[in-house]
Amino acid sequence: MNEYIYNRYSDYLKNKYGCRVYKLPISIPVSCPNRINGLKGCTYCDESGAGFDNISGVFSIAEQIYKNMEYIGKKYKAKKFSAYFQNFTNTFLPLNEFEKYIQSACVDNIVELSVSTRPDCIKYEYLDALKYVSNKFNVDITIELGLQSANIHTLNKINRGHGIAEFIDAVMSIKKYGFKICTHVILNIPWDDIYDCIEAAKIITVLGVDFVKLHSLYIAKNTVMAKQYENKEFNICDIDEYTRRVSEFIRHVSKEQYFERIVSRPPKENTIFANWGRSNWYLRDYIESYMLKNGFYQSQLCNYMQGKALRLL
Ligand code: SF4
Repeated sequence: MNEYIYNRYSDYLKNKYGCRVYKLPISIPVSCPNRINGLKGCTYCDESGAGFDNISGVFSIAEQIYKNMEYIGKKYKAKKFSAYFQNFTNTFLPLNEFEKYIQSACVDNIVELSVSTRPDCIKYEYLDALKYVSNKFNVDITIELGLQSANIHTLNKINRGHGIAEFIDAVMSIKKYGFKICTHVILNIPWDDIYDCIEAAKIITVLGVDFVKLHSLYIAKNTVMAKQYENKEFNICDIDEYTRRVSEFIRHVSKEQYFERIVSRPPKENTIFANWGRSNWYLRDYIESYMLKNGFYQSQLCNYMQGKALRLL
């Protein structure tokens, strides 16, 4: 039986760098344009800004990297690392501070900077700064963009504060610099259906996004979404529907994308809903077994580019 299901990011890293490469989450004092001036942020966003496993930002960048490197290097026998600016919107910092932080992350054995941000927060000055650091320190750059949903009505419902056009603009701008792009999508987001998920897969493919993180929505305590959930204002699809959505997403992307994850790894505490009460490993294996059993694999339905969609008319 063909055991291939989808391209794994870990394989991409191993092929590119010749060894295991681990991401070291680092935290800098930054906020998010969607959480200031009275804006309340995405309805699922908690106080950590999606950076719950970061070491405290009270440590310097180098301290954070070395502490993490020591621990992760020993545990996983990793020799090379990616400095992961994970939480909030890192390109929302003033430019001079952003430059200072990204430069200070370029220590020995860091082969990549991975910078997480919003699609509406990509500007050429920041990309120029990343290009300069990339050339000077010989590090690769990946920019992580949250798309979350390809449905503008859903994006409005969850108060993302940007639409699909901003995402397309961001990807096209970043591509000019030759950086890699990772996109986050939540496949069990309430209000979306399987066709929204397939559309997200197609958009990501035609834009040539490199890496994908698929998330199973978890609901953190003390968020707007937590209140809506408790008030039964929406339903979350069941585990089998999530499995189908992930599977269809993977079948619709091309052979070029690599998956960093297909389920969320929620924090152990402070959630009122996460992965249908299962571990992330269980859920991942469940989805992979489903795909194997059905003979599903990546790019199987990638038949909509270069005029191929015409035959559907
Ligand atoms: S973009 Fe990220 S940090 Fe900003 S409000 Fe949304 S989830 Fe929170």
